[in-house]
Amino acid sequence: MSSPFAWLRPPEYRQLPAGFSHPQRPAPVAAPQLLHWNAGLAERLGMPAVEPAQIARLLAGLDGPSPPSGLATAYAGHQFGHFVPQLGDGRALLLGDIVSPDGARFELQLKGSGRTPFSRGGDGRAALGPVLREVLVSEAMHALGVPTTRSLAAIASGELVQRERPLPGGVLARLASSHVRVGSFEYFACRRDIASLQALSDWVICRHYPHCQEAERPALALLQAVIERQAELIAHWMSVGFIHGVMNTDNMALSGETIDYGPCAFLDEYNPNKVFSSIDQQGRYAYSNQPGIAQWNLARLAECLLPLIDADEAAGIELASTAVQAFVPAFEAAWLARMRPKFGLDTAQPGDSELIEHFLAALHEIEADYTRSFSALADRCGSEQAGVMATLPRTPAMDRWCPAWQARLSAEQCDVDAIRTRLRRANPAVIPRNHQIERVIAAAYADDMQPFDELLAALCRPFDDGPAQQRFMQPPEVEQRVEKTFCG
Ligand code: AMP
Ligand code: MG
Ligand code: MG
Repeated sequence: MSSPFAWLRPPEYRQLPAGFSHPQRPAPVAAPQLLHWNAGLAERLGMPAVEPAQIARLLAGLDGPSPPSGLATAYAGHQFGHFVPQLGDGRALLLGDIVSPDGARFELQLKGSGRTPFSRGGDGRAALGPVLREVLVSEAMHALGVPTTRSLAAIASGELVQRERPLPGGVLARLASSHVRVGSFEYFACRRDIASLQALSDWVICRHYPHCQEAERPALALLQAVIERQAELIAHWMSVGFIHGVMNTDNMALSGETIDYGPCAFLDEYNPNKVFSSIDQQGRYAYSNQPGIAQWNLARLAECLLPLIDADEAAGIELASTAVQAFVPAFEAAWLARMRPKFGLDTAQPGDSELIEHFLAALHEIEADYTRSFSALADRCGSEQAGVMATLPRTPAMDRWCPAWQARLSAEQCDVDAIRTRLRRANPAVIPRNHQIERVIAAAYADDMQPFDELLAALCRPFDDGPAQQRFMQPPEVEQRVEKTFCG
């Protein structure tokens, strides 16, 4: 009989030399209970029908492929600007790869699966709340079209983890096209291990950027390709109002996917200086700092790649600096391309940046809700519609802005209905709002998963503003606002 885990292949990352990872098994948990199973994703991955109990046992470390092939991977990273030469999978492990029917390969990673050689002082575990939070936010991001890791399954471990107070534990199974980070390169660069840097660069190129193989300088082409993808990613984050919260270099994936949902959050009221993360006391990772921080992280990647770019250091620095500087125009172009449709614009006109900035300034002035204000544009662009919930704030600045926008829309040479359709396609109705997330986590801690399931279903249809979605669309009342998010 074939193994019930035949769908899980040994990780391709194991082909890299020994110093890249440690063989690692998950530490078993006491009483696993499957709380979330992403059947739609499993189907897309071509997974055979699996027993929920078997999935729970896999996440719990009680069952798995034989022989076991899990790995804890090594990486370093700049945390809040300070370099740490060894971080690594301290509470995660790479269980194996899944290859979907169309040939795409994903890594299946457990988070909260116990201590590893990289755990330092940590317990290797995760609290259930942050696990459920990652499921909600990552699946919402996917539904919004933002490149991201996916959540396949989550269990309650039946054990308590000690945080500020004891909390129920959980384990998450997530998928990424790979988990290689800027910090993976920093790990070998700080050890002056050029052979490993070369092996890692070759692996990433082969996996994610095969076109770079033909370039005159593959490592430079890789840097340029990663910069382009990150510019797109951060522009996408900004357009939906996402704040990552811990943009350390160990949390920036070479694949261009959003990874590591810790104290992340979506904007409710618009304030470019917004910070949610309890550990970000200086506001380093504030909403509007994200493009600059991304470029800073990419400069760290560029430094790692220097020895692979050119044998002559000065020539390498010149090439790498030019590549890193190109982030700024790439981000601006990507941001405009993401923002224009949010205003119903298909064409590009010289004053578009200013038009967008003036709108955002008008929102900031009264801290209007970011998502609702964009939803309101669909109702402002033509005749009023019945059942409309969102209204644009009326302020002198907004009253000045609206006619300018209407004038700009007329340059689109497109009828009102078509513009309204564009607006509804570009502006989500439902985003994962903190107060909703906290509410469903509190219910889950009280053994009620129904609110979680309902919220997740709504988040998977972010552009649907039908009656069933209404209760998830409302911004928090002032007393419902959740201002702080935690790591977990
Ligand atoms: P993060 O801030 O989640 O990106 O994690 C930074 C580093 O701390 C990574 O090396 C993690 O593996 C490690 N880490 C975070 N939480 C724990 C934990 N509870 N136990 C062990 N290591 C952890
Ligand atoms: Mg991390
Ligand atoms: Mg984390």
